[in-house]
Amino acid sequence: MSKFRTGVLFGHEVNEVYADAKTHQYALPAVNVVSTSTVNSVMETAAKLKSPVIVQLSFGGGHFYAGKSLPNENLQASVAGCISAGLHVHKMAEMYGVSVILHTDHCALKNITWIDQLLDFQEAYYAEHGHPLYSSHMLDLSEELIEENIEICQRYLERMSKINIGLEIELGITGGEEDGVDNSDVDSSKLYTQPSEVHYAYDKLIGISDNVTVAASFGNVHGVYKPGNVKLQPIILKNSQAFVAEKIGKPDTKPVSFVFHGGSGSSPDEITEAIGYGVIKMNIDTDMQWAFNEGLRDYYTEFKDYVATQIGNPDGDDQPNKKYYDPRKVLRNGEERFVKRLEECFADLNCLKRNESQH
Ligand SMILES: [Zn+2]
Repeated sequence: MSKFRTGVLFGHEVNEVYADAKTHQYALPAVNVVSTSTVNSVMETAAKLKSPVIVQLSFGGGHFYAGKSLPNENLQASVAGCISAGLHVHKMAEMYGVSVILHTDHCALKNITWIDQLLDFQEAYYAEHGHPLYSSHMLDLSEELIEENIEICQRYLERMSKINIGLEIELGITGGEEDGVDNSDVDSSKLYTQPSEVHYAYDKLIGISDNVTVAASFGNVHGVYKPGNVKLQPIILKNSQAFVAEKIGKPDTKPVSFVFHGGSGSSPDEITEAIGYGVIKMNIDTDMQWAFNEGLRDYYTEFKDYVATQIGNPDGDDQPNKKYYDPRKVLRNGEERFVKRLEECFADLNCLKRNESQH
């Protein structure tokens, strides 16, 4: 018997996982997926480690899921891919016996039609099934003024909460480059969120729904780069948490659920510190891309002489190579490396056996 329901979780079920994470000082890995291969690998890992997990798609990941040949000028392929991936995740969460929070990653204002279309679909889906497809969506309006950011988030949260969908917001800017959004030369003061900004957002949103998570900037950067002039300052999360707790008259609590973006390359100590300040979700993308790449690269290196021609290898000139070049072989090697690396992420996040009811 698992602690959380098996399948995709919604509303209060999601908040129960995050509350449990704060109580027991762990965070969930939120893994970016782009294919059935990566979705299934996330399920395989979470099932093996008996812990809940967050599966997320970007609009680029959704487009890839649907197929890169499809036109996407209105993000219609991104929408279709995210619906298809969502249905796959629902089915596989049951098959693997895993509790999953299903989420979409960064959506800037210029791409908001992506979320609009996903919500249109889910309102009809909700009417039929009594639940949405996605547990939560992220709106990253950090390029806008904070007043505008939060005003738009309020409107979306009103709409989303009616069908039991949660919202992740972004305050301040995550440095680096991801999915075609390049913040690598942004003013460094914007890379650090102020506690008053966190309270402002919390105060405006919490009255609409308590299904809200906050990606705050504390010197985190997307991707892996050489150490630069931006320094990770998890203390910002601690100060923000204390500021909000004081303002709402609940000192010594952790009212805010923080999300850690751009954590690739962070030390285990930095991750543990951030979890101590109420980080319940850590996005994992770059390190998983690298792991999958390693699996493909090493396979082709190891079997170089068996994939160069359809017939003929070091064992004989007339030997067929079909069993070596079957794409399932190389993809499985990518998956296995992905799973191995993701297991390390779960361990770093103290997220082992978190779905065992006696734990
Ligand atoms: Zn991010």
